[in-house]
Amino acid sequence: MYIRSFVLSTDKLKNIKLAANGTQALILRIVRDHSPISRTGIVDKTGQPHAAVSRSTALLLEKRILTEEARRDTNGPRRKRGLQLNGDYGYVLSVEYGPDRIEGIVMNTAYETVEKFAIETDLASLSQAAIINQMTKCLEQLQAKARNCGICLGIAAVDPGIIDDIKGTSIMASTIEDWKNVPVVEILEKHFKSPVKLLSTGISKIRAVDRLELNNSVQNFIYIEYGKGIACGLKLNGTYISGQGNLAGELGHLRVTDAQIPCSCGGVGCLEALASLSALAKNASLAIAGKSSTLAGQKQISGMDVLRAAAQHDRLASRIVDEAFEKIGTAVAGLVNILSPKMVLFDSIIEQAGPETVTMLLRTLQKSVLISHQSQLETKISVIKSHLGALGGAAAILDDCITA
Ligand SMILES: [Zn+2]
Repeated sequence: MYIRSFVLSTDKLKNIKLAANGTQALILRIVRDHSPISRTGIVDKTGQPHAAVSRSTALLLEKRILTEEARRDTNGPRRKRGLQLNGDYGYVLSVEYGPDRIEGIVMNTAYETVEKFAIETDLASLSQAAIINQMTKCLEQLQAKARNCGICLGIAAVDPGIIDDIKGTSIMASTIEDWKNVPVVEILEKHFKSPVKLLSTGISKIRAVDRLELNNSVQNFIYIEYGKGIACGLKLNGTYISGQGNLAGELGHLRVTDAQIPCSCGGVGCLEALASLSALAKNASLAIAGKSSTLAGQKQISGMDVLRAAAQHDRLASRIVDEAFEKIGTAVAGLVNILSPKMVLFDSIIEQAGPETVTMLLRTLQKSVLISHQSQLETKISVIKSHLGALGGAAAILDDCITA
């Protein structure tokens, strides 16, 4: 019995809680979303009595979880004083790994990124041990840079495949062959002696835009992830939707044509097979023979090349991208009609196609949305350009820390 409880207490590293009770947690969340904010502002937003807010705020200031200093970047006449999360209190490490890239960040307790790391590397063909080794190295480099950032509150591992977030295991990733049944949390907790949280990419990305771009101001929105694949993140009635088995969000595998175009999932006619960056590259390479295009003569055409050529009004590229974006617009409109979000936020990559093409995409979307939904719908392109998964992973840990 003694041995059993000993094992449990060292095995399960717990997140450090910054809030001692519900009132403190509420205050920290309000400060996170509205800083700098006065005590009166907190009273207005929470409905809590002024005395309780003052008392809890004093305790949080005393523990240096909150600060009331003017910020370094708000000097001058517009300098605002108010309560803010203290970025010097501590930090979180976060790493996102995929088939061809590892990205990592250090985020401080004010949700600010203080260090970034990215490396192009072919994880798809590596063994589990070699992948773990690369992730560990990335985290160690970041940790070395975070030496003066206070205490480490935890580590986020953002996984490209299907995860069991309760067990902390990555079950499989279709893009990395050897990545099966990997006890990511156990391995990293043993190595770093810090609490580790395993998250899926989709949930992490929507949390990143929700926290760092929208400041939790929109309770119903869809984030459209666009790249070599297509997926969506969902926040509905204030909750991120992960679905049974964390499998929600596979927008890319919505069937959008009867044409027998093969998809990486084994199906045919999927949105991803027609409209992803990989599809743009394939379609341009096939269409280019004998055509005049700025893409002609390039040894290998990437999807990004096609988007950029469309932005430069290359006719061939524009036609390919327009067709792809029309499919995306119609598919997303279907989602809007079903889920009724207030906002659709697109991946920043979309902007590479140029303003005219983006306008066409948004117009197609609006056109296919029910009239009842049209007036309340906002559409935007995200301003966050990189490290989205790692940012969301880090924010998830901080969010855990500021719950009671
Ligand atoms: Zn598919």
